[in-house]
Amino acid sequence: MSAADLGPRGQEAGPGLVKRARDGDVRALGRLISLVENGAPELRAVLRELAPLTGQARVLGLTGAPGVGKSTVTTALVAAYRERGLRVAVLAVDPTSPFTGGALLGDRVRMQQHATDQGVFIRSMASRGHLGGLAGAAPQALHVLDAAGFGLILVETVGVGQAEVEIAALADSTLVIVAPGLGDAIQAAKAGILEIGDVFVVNKSDKPGAQETVRDLRGMIAMAQRGPEDWKPPIVRTVASDGEGIAELAAKLDAHQAWLDSSGEGERRRLARARGEITTLALGELRQRMGALPGGSAVDELARRVAAGELDPYSAADELIAAAG
Ligand code: GDP
Repeated sequence: MSAADLGPRGQEAGPGLVKRARDGDVRALGRLISLVENGAPELRAVLRELAPLTGQARVLGLTGAPGVGKSTVTTALVAAYRERGLRVAVLAVDPTSPFTGGALLGDRVRMQQHATDQGVFIRSMASRGHLGGLAGAAPQALHVLDAAGFGLILVETVGVGQAEVEIAALADSTLVIVAPGLGDAIQAAKAGILEIGDVFVVNKSDKPGAQETVRDLRGMIAMAQRGPEDWKPPIVRTVASDGEGIAELAAKLDAHQAWLDSSGEGERRRLARARGEITTLALGELRQRMGALPGGSAVDELARRVAAGELDPYSAADELIAAAG
C-alpha cells in the first residue's frame, strides 16, 4: 500500500476500502460512510471508483414525527425483505443535528434484532464537514451502499420538516408514517410531507383513533391534484411492534415500484436526483471557493462598490463567480 492510500488517521482509504466493502467488510463500509460525512479529500477518488458499480439499489425513504414508530416499522421491513434474500442497509439521518444523537438509541435497539445478520447494515449519519451539508452527503452515502451491493436501502429521517422532505426526495418510494392521536397527520400536511408520500402508514393501529386518522389522511390525500394516470397513494394500517400489516405494506411498496418502472416516473426521479446532487455539489464548491478568495476581500470590495452605487449587484455577482472559477 502506498502512502497515498492512507487516510488522515493512517487508515487505508480509496481502492482497497471499496473492494473490502463489496466483499462484506462492515468496517470498511463504515469508514467509507465516514469519509462521506466528513467530506474527506479522498471522497472524489472513491466516488469515481464507485460510479460504475452503482445504479442497482432500490431506495425507500421513511419519514414521520418522532415516536410514530419509524424505527419499529424499519426493523419489521428489514426482516420482511431479508426473507426475500435481499441485502438491506438502513441509513438513519437526522437533518436537525450536525452530530448523530437521537438516532443512536434507535440503532442500538434495532441492532439487537439484526446484529448477527451479515446481510444487514445499519448506520446513523450526520454531516460534519460535507460541502453540501446533509443533503449533499446523503446521496453519496447511498452511492456507497449501492456499490457495496445492498439491493435495498432504507433511509429513515427523524422528524417532520423541510429537511426531511429534501432527504425523502432521494428515495424511489417514500413512506410517510403517522400514528393515531398525535395530530401528526396535520403536522405532516403543514410540512408538505403529504405531497411526497407514495405510501402512507397509520402505525399503532392497535390504539384508539386509528380509524379517524385513516379518514383524516384519506381526506387530505384526496385534496392533492392527481391525473388519471398518476399513482394513488394507498394507506396501510400497521401494528409494527407485532409485525401486523407489514406484509401488506411490502406489497404496496412493490406495487409502487412496479408503477415507477412502467410509468417512466422511476427514471424521471433518478434523473431529478442526479441533477439535484450535481447542483448541490457545484454550489457548495462555489461557496467554498468564494470563501477561500484572499481574505474574503473580494466580496468586501464588491460590497463596498455596490453599497456606494458604483456597481450593480448582478455585475458584482458575475465578478465574484469569475474570481472563484
Ligand atoms: P420512532 O421515534 O418514530 O422511530 O418510533 P419507535 O419505532 O422508536 O417507536 C416508539 C414507541 O412506540 C416504541 O416504544 C415502540 O415499541 C412503540 N410502537 C411502535 N410501533 C407500535 C405499534 O404498532 N403499536 C404500539 N402500541 N406501539 C408501537
